[in-house]
Amino acid sequence: MAKNKALQAIRGMNDCLPSETNIWQMVESVLSRVASNYGFAEIRMPIVESTALFKRSIGEVTDIVEKEMYTFDDLNGDSLTLRPEGTASCVRAGIQHGLLYNQEQRFWYMGPMFRHERPQKGRYRQFHQFGLEAFGIATPDIDAEIILLTSRLWRELGINEFVTLELNSLGSNDERANYREALVSYLTEREALLDEDSKRRMHTNPLRVLDSKNPQVQDALAGAPKLSDYFGEETQQHFDSLCARLDAAGVKYVLNDRLVRGLDYYNRTVFEWVTSSLGAQGTICAGGRYDGLVEQLGGKATPGFGFALGIERLVLMLTNSEAVADVRPQVDAYVVILGDEAQVKANELAEQWRDQVPNIRLQCHCGGGNMKKQLKRADKSGAKIALILGDDEIAQQSVMVKYLREQQEQQSLAFEKVPSLLSELI
Ligand code: ATP
Ligand code: MG
Repeated sequence: MAKNKALQAIRGMNDCLPSETNIWQMVESVLSRVASNYGFAEIRMPIVESTALFKRSIGEVTDIVEKEMYTFDDLNGDSLTLRPEGTASCVRAGIQHGLLYNQEQRFWYMGPMFRHERPQKGRYRQFHQFGLEAFGIATPDIDAEIILLTSRLWRELGINEFVTLELNSLGSNDERANYREALVSYLTEREALLDEDSKRRMHTNPLRVLDSKNPQVQDALAGAPKLSDYFGEETQQHFDSLCARLDAAGVKYVLNDRLVRGLDYYNRTVFEWVTSSLGAQGTICAGGRYDGLVEQLGGKATPGFGFALGIERLVLMLTNSEAVADVRPQVDAYVVILGDEAQVKANELAEQWRDQVPNIRLQCHCGGGNMKKQLKRADKSGAKIALILGDDEIAQQSVMVKYLREQQEQQSLAFEKVPSLLSELI
C-alpha cells in the first residue's frame, strides 16, 4: 500500500460511532431483557470456528457456504471460518458441553457475523445478529412462545406497525423428499423458463427455486405442486396448533408457501418478519424449527427451534423514530474547574460524589481553559447542570450550580448538599 494512502475500514465492515452507540445500546438492552424475561440465558461462542461446522450445518449448496464465507487457513493449516451465523456454533457448543441430551435449554446470543456479500443499505460484511435457540422441545408450544417473544420485541422497540409475520411449514424430511421429486419434475418440464441460478438449484437444492427473486421464475412457478399437499397428519397438526396459538394471542400472520429459508437445516415451522421500510433488505428476523441439526452435528437427536435478527436493520428502522429521542444524553452534570486550588480539590470531591451517587454520570473538565470555554464544553456534553468550582468556592466549601437547560438563577450550594442535587438528576 502507498505510504500516504489513508487507512480505511474494510468495505462492508462499519464503525459504530459514539453518536450511534446510544441507540445500539437501547436496542441491545431491549433484546436481552425480553429474552431473559422468557427464560432464555445468554451463551457466548467464539467468532471463529472450523469450516466443517458451517458446511455440515448450513449446507454445501446454500448462498452462505457457496459464496459468502470468510474462510482461511490458519498457521497450522486448519481451515477456519469467521462465523456467518450463530445457530451452528450454538449447537456445537451445546453438544460439546453436554447441555442438550435429554434436557431442555433456552439460550440467546448476540454478536458480529461475517458474510462476503455486496455491501448496500441494510446488508454488510460484518453485521450483528441477536438470536435465540430452544432445545429439547418438539411440540408447537415453543414455536408459538418464541414467535410471541419476537412480536413483543417489535412492540417494545415501537416498530410493530411496520412489520409483518410470514409463516410456512417445510414438513418433515420425508415429506420434503417426496415433494422435492414432484417439484423437480415440474421444474424439468419448464427448464427453458428458468434463469441460470434456478437451473442449477433445480438439481442441487430445488426448494430454493421457490424463493427466487426473479419475477420470470416466479411466473413459471405459478402452477407448481404445493409442499402442504405432501404433509402427513403430524406436520399438519403441528402447524395448525401453532396457528391457533398465534390467533388466540392476537398475532397476525400471512401464510407464504414460497418461504423456504436459505439454510438447509430447517424442518416444519419457518417464519420471517419483514418490513417494507428498508427497501430490498426487507427481512429483519428469520427462523424456525431444526429438529435434525443436533444429530447432524454429532449429538443425540434433539429438537430445536430458533431465530436470528439483524441488529443493523432494526437500528435503521429506529433511526429518526421517536423512540430515539428518549435515549438519555451522555452526561448528567459537568464539573467546571477554575484556579489552582480547585484543580487539586476537584478530583477528590468528584470521587466522593460518585461514591455517594453511584449512578450519576459526572464529567470533570480536563485540559484547563477559562469559564467560557469550559461552559461551552459543559453545554455540548448534554449535562443538565454545571458545578463550578473556583478557589473562592473551595474557601467557602461550596460549588456554584449553573442550570444549562432551564431558566433558573445560578445558586451557591454547600459541598454536603451536592449529592442530593445530583440524585435528582438521574
Ligand atoms: P437476506 O435474505 O436478507 O440475505 P438471510 O436469509 O441471508 O437474509 P439469515 O441468515 O436468516 O438472513 O439471517 C437473519 C437476519 O440477519 C436477517 O433477517 C437480517 O436481518 C440479518 N442479516 C443477514 N445477512 C445480513 C447482512 N449481510 N447484513 C446485515 N444484516 C444481515
Ligand atoms: Mg443472505
